[in-house]
Amino acid sequence: MAKRILVVGSLNMDLVVNVARHPEPGDTVLGGDVGTFPGGKGANQAAAAAKAGGGTGASAAMLGLVGTDSYGSTLLESLAKAGVDARAIQQTSGPSGVALIAVSEGGENTIIVSPGANGRLTPEHISDDLFEGVALVLMQLEIPLETVQEVAARSRAKDVAVMLNAAPVQTLPGDLVANLSYLILNEGEAAFLSETSVSDEASALAAARALRERGVGAVVITLGAQGVVWVSGASEGHLDAHQVEVVDTTASGDAFCGALAVCLADGHSLEEALRFANAAGALAATKKGAQPSLPEARDIERLLGS
Ligand code: ADP
Repeated sequence: MAKRILVVGSLNMDLVVNVARHPEPGDTVLGGDVGTFPGGKGANQAAAAAKAGGGTGASAAMLGLVGTDSYGSTLLESLAKAGVDARAIQQTSGPSGVALIAVSEGGENTIIVSPGANGRLTPEHISDDLFEGVALVLMQLEIPLETVQEVAARSRAKDVAVMLNAAPVQTLPGDLVANLSYLILNEGEAAFLSETSVSDEASALAAARALRERGVGAVVITLGAQGVVWVSGASEGHLDAHQVEVVDTTASGDAFCGALAVCLADGHSLEEALRFANAAGALAATKKGAQPSLPEARDIERLLGS
């Protein structure tokens, strides 16, 4: 059985600067040194899947676009270092995706994302051979929606499972929703799509049930320190979050999605994969940063006590 996942998504260089306070329009403020960190939801989740999959026999490949600037090659190197098969990633003329992130002393972020090359990943880049040997395709919404729709439709036609982490959230066309095997949302995204308030286990379960009725195989809503709920055709339920010393929850959602995808591709049930992902998300919260904080399979298994 195929044990390979394919991530179709974004790669961004995150440029992070600490400021005493955020500038108002027209202001100039001085900040600290700029930190340069490979990111983008697609790349983070591909790296999370590769690291969490190590040892299980499941692997992760990625399709995306980087620019011809120096960030492009750094982003590719970083993915390869995490163990992602990055051979399908192409360089396209112009700049790479960049996220400009200012962090204030109070810990509040302002983020400007310039999609760059990610915005140029069109349906023409999707070829049939990409799906060979792929058990599950994982996507987010930092690439053009028409590309996400095309990949979901082609995957469905080939009997490849489709997982969408609808972040950053936007209204989803009905035909896309109907092609999804798994829809993964955090509280805010679930509230937006279900048009209800989502703040705890009960409200999240209600939102997940309502969203599943739109034709999705299974809906998973992550609740940060309150764990995760799921609703599928076969079961529904809640898992408590692991008690961990929280340092920085930046990549928890990405760690969760990558681990969930790779564990499902390895042939585990949804409930087993959710347990694995719940541990991966918790571990990512115990370390600073995005890609460097993503846990390895052995760390996840240790937290699960197996
Ligand atoms: P996002 O980062 O996308 O908003 P969440 O904050 O819901 O996603 O986190 C995703 C998952 O990571 C949670 O469902 C949980 O498994 C884990 N997680 C996040 N924050 C914590 C925390 N404070 N303690 C333990 N686990 C956490």
